Amino acid sequence: MSQIIFDDNENILNTYKRFNVVLTGGKGSTLIDENGKKYIDFNSGIGTNIFGICDDEWTKAVCSQATKIQHTSNLYYSEPQVKVARLLCEKTGMKKVFFSNSGAESNECAIKTARKYSFDKYGEGRYEIITLINSFHGRTIATLSATGQDVFHQFFFPFVDGFKYAPANDIEALKSLISNKTCAIMIETVQGEGGVNALNPEYIKFIADVCKEKDILFIVDEVQTGNGRTGYLYSYMEYGVKPDIVTTAKGLAGGLPFGAILFGEKTEKTLSYGQHGTTFGGNPICAAAAYSVLTRIDDKLLNHVKEMRKLIETKLIGKEGIKSISGKGLMVGIELDEKYKASEVVAKGIENGVIMLTAKTKVRLLPPLNISKEDLTKGLDLLLKSMEDLK
Ligand SMILES: *Cc1c(COP(=O)(O)O)cnc(C)c1O
Repeated sequence: MSQIIFDDNENILNTYKRFNVVLTGGKGSTLIDENGKKYIDFNSGIGTNIFGICDDEWTKAVCSQATKIQHTSNLYYSEPQVKVARLLCEKTGMKKVFFSNSGAESNECAIKTARKYSFDKYGEGRYEIITLINSFHGRTIATLSATGQDVFHQFFFPFVDGFKYAPANDIEALKSLISNKTCAIMIETVQGEGGVNALNPEYIKFIADVCKEKDILFIVDEVQTGNGRTGYLYSYMEYGVKPDIVTTAKGLAGGLPFGAILFGEKTEKTLSYGQHGTTFGGNPICAAAAYSVLTRIDDKLLNHVKEMRKLIETKLIGKEGIKSISGKGLMVGIELDEKYKASEVVAKGIENGVIMLTAKTKVRLLPPLNISKEDLTKGLDLLLKSMEDLK
């Protein structure tokens, strides 16, 4: 066993079921481990490294900011933050931005905002947030509470009160959960951790409409779906709906810890002095990375994402052992025949030189958004070979 793996087991808390690989470098869509073995990267650090490993432009943006000032504090103005915020507002039509460090923190902020919006306007008691069964919103106590999966509601009692869980795509069930206590509905347009399940467009539109009608805040968790992943800058844009709050993180800074919460007209003034804050959120290096990333999520890249989606579907649909392909853009779920276990396919993939993920019983692919046709094809061939090897 590698010394690194031994030392990890000695001193790092045992919360991850790690594969026996020590990744040390790479370039673009290729990863390299400590033994020099190469892998096609269909994980991109769980959707964070959207331009791959050590992309030249991204590296330049990060290093250049690191030579100027690595951190200020949110007591002072900072140009990198301002540039990202302006770009986000321009590109989305949202009004204001708060910067965080992660997806969970972004959702925490959204939850606080939803409750305060309702408290300010309607007084106490209108605090319930409806989320979906199979959702995933993070690992803090409040975002675990928001997550609509029983496996996450263990051990850490008491959880945060005021969350109701609706089965996805069931309009009648959702209607029956909405009451005069409801302050927000929060969705992922494609449930990521929950199994790469895309919501129906009619369902998304219904939520947007009912929220508007009843002055309930419409929150879209774009932590995984955002920043080009589905072939749109933010996935909600595909449906012509307008959320009141958008949360994001993962790919936003191309692999640095950075999150953002975007506020629309209703919510732009909800949080004010002293009601929210963070030490590191909006960090200049992360912000410089995010600015660089956001300027590059253009139509050309988004079309590339859609093209690569087609290539994946063409190569995989109808292949032995593959039942269906789910998700949107380069957020791909692969439903396998019962005889295959997703975790075994992923483990075999590592042997064969492709790094993949699972989501529930599916194999999940989140390649870099700029992955070349050649690398994508190579990785898909390795995936098919891994399934063949397990036959
Ligand atoms: C990953 C994820 C989160 C949590 O993000 P962290 O950065 O791990 O806190 C929240 N929501 C969704 C949809 C996610 O995919």
